[in-house]
Amino acid sequence: MNIGILGGGQLARMLAQAGRPLGQNFMFLSPDIPSCAAPYGEHLQARYDDETALQRLAQWADVVTYEFENVPAPSIQFLEARVRVHPSSSALEVSKNRVREKTEFQHLGIATAEFAAVDSAASLTEAVARIGFPAILKTQTEGYDGKGQVVLRSAEDVAGAWQALDTVPCILEAMVSFDRELSIIAVRCATGAKVFYPLSENYHRNGILRLSLSRPGDPMQAAAEALITRLLDHLDFVGVLTLELFQVGDRLLANEIAPRVHNSGHWTIEGAATSQFENHLHAVTGQPLGDTGISADSAMVNIIGTLPNHIQSQVPGAHLHSYDKAERQGRKIGHLTLVSNDPATLREQTARCLRWVGESDLASRLSDGKTPVRVS
Ligand code: AMP
Repeated sequence: MNIGILGGGQLARMLAQAGRPLGQNFMFLSPDIPSCAAPYGEHLQARYDDETALQRLAQWADVVTYEFENVPAPSIQFLEARVRVHPSSSALEVSKNRVREKTEFQHLGIATAEFAAVDSAASLTEAVARIGFPAILKTQTEGYDGKGQVVLRSAEDVAGAWQALDTVPCILEAMVSFDRELSIIAVRCATGAKVFYPLSENYHRNGILRLSLSRPGDPMQAAAEALITRLLDHLDFVGVLTLELFQVGDRLLANEIAPRVHNSGHWTIEGAATSQFENHLHAVTGQPLGDTGISADSAMVNIIGTLPNHIQSQVPGAHLHSYDKAERQGRKIGHLTLVSNDPATLREQTARCLRWVGESDLASRLSDGKTPVRVS
């Protein structure tokens, strides 16, 4: 089967790594060279709105999917008129805009942080008066990995904040003093059948994910599954959907959705019977969904900026995934997965990996057995 993917980064690469053994072929449309997915298929180097390239992808592929939500919705609609595309452009449009997304959450009875749309300096002042400090101003579209966000702690931070985000439409959100950050990853196929992975407990620094821990048997699992089920069915979603959550006490607040495989689910490659990547491919190609069961606990440590040397000899048992991307500050260039049935071993190995990638503070807190770990 021929699978077209919009995007040629690490998520496209890991989708293809999962699909090649299933006999699937891949074509990636992306403007970026080099593309780290390219070794696993054909790379069409073109803009996402290049109709000639989209046409070629549509002709070649049996089904098209995408690796990130910043692809233009009109391109997905162009493809939908010519070839099967999952997830749909309507699901994509919800996830592309933070105001639209949070409004949809509200309609579905899913709690969020307090928020207000901001499209001028005056509306920011009004929103701050209502929401108070601390708050976080984010661009409505295009932001990822903490980009396009400004934290407002006092009145001095307000002047110039909107200008700092290029005066584009924004959202002001109350800063949630969460106990934990969690994500739930689910897969739905066209028949409506769904499977869920165990929750991931996530640790960010500067808006970038550093560590995810699988949490089988977590007390919040059922509540998270109930929330994402509402979204999956409402959007008639096909593929992997991720819902990022803040836990405050025993409440869950939705932060955002990603209509795609997600960084917090990379541990499923080694840690689950069927990875999120393989299950996404099963869903979009109309195959039965695979077992999301696990036989041990997992941790995933992101490698950001530079690839540390000899990690596997330092931490035996660590599974290294290098994305073959050039080293650059703040860029995700790989990850490490650790899997163990013994919590103490897993914690110790994960802490060693965290130290190796420069996350010493998080490593120390983890070694001290302090999870959930509050990270500033
Ligand atoms: P986002 O791009 O919305 O996923 O934000 C990246 C990270 O910033 C989140 O995973 C949180 O760690 C933090 N963050 C974003 N929004 C909020 C919020 N309203 N309250 C507290 N932390 C937040």
